[in-house]
Amino acid sequence: MKIYLDGQFVDSADAKISVFDHGLLYGDGVFEGIRLYGGNVFRLEEHLERLEYSARAVMLDIPHTRAELSEIVCETCRQNELTDAYIRLVVTRGIGDLGLAPWTCPKPSVFVIASKISLYPQEYYDNGLAIVTVPTRRIAPGALPATVKSLNYLNNILGKIEAKQFGALEAIMLNEQGYVAECTADNIFIVHKGELITPATSQGALKGITRDAVLDIAAELGVPLRDANMTRYDVWCADECFLTGSGAEVVPVIALDGRRIGDGRPGPITRDVLASFRRRVLVEGTRI
Ligand code: PMP
Repeated sequence: MKIYLDGQFVDSADAKISVFDHGLLYGDGVFEGIRLYGGNVFRLEEHLERLEYSARAVMLDIPHTRAELSEIVCETCRQNELTDAYIRLVVTRGIGDLGLAPWTCPKPSVFVIASKISLYPQEYYDNGLAIVTVPTRRIAPGALPATVKSLNYLNNILGKIEAKQFGALEAIMLNEQGYVAECTADNIFIVHKGELITPATSQGALKGITRDAVLDIAAELGVPLRDANMTRYDVWCADECFLTGSGAEVVPVIALDGRRIGDGRPGPITRDVLASFRRRVLVEGTRI
């Protein structure tokens, strides 16, 4: 496997980052998780824009233009002769002192990994996922806006561990006010009385690229949508629920905290959205 690392394509065994890189020492960096479908990178421009916004928010200068990053991502796929892949694009603060001051890091590090991924087995797309709410809260927007896709995933990791302890693959994380923010690595949607509802980014949701695609799909399907404060009760009493993410795509949820959602099967709007999403990814995107 060829990895792009700071201007070169190297074998994965040689793709090494210094122990003094602040991405490792402090989680000081930003990243994107992107998908390649049938030779098209899905919503690459949107991913690169989000990366730029994340970098701007943490005052990190990406040493490439958007066009250069786009070419680096595509070339990494070509080098590995991939047509379907999960792409990880990371910009770290780079090598510096042991102190946390980012100005000791003269040059950010950029790397891209393109690899195979299959997050959930097909049976979950057919039958749905049972999820739980975990005690660990989403980082408060006043500490770090949820819209910043940074290398700080420790609280999501705690949520993931807690989910496993409760026997679930994914979990809802609440915000400090007790409203549903999102899941450990996915956004969440519910359908209630024909309306599609998702938490606002101001409630602690990442502005997911898949979330945005689903908002477009909902508009196309004529499903009314709104973002609103969402409680666990709203999810328990929803007619349908699903999660979205670049890795997960659109996954139906059939239970939360032991309460069955709707009739306990993936609902019709969820199935329409998933089918429409899978059609879209094959035609929408940047040809590598
Ligand atoms: N929330 C979190 C915390 C995530 O890590 C992800 C995955 N990147 C998402 C939501 C979904 O975002 P996207 O659709 O852009 O992958």
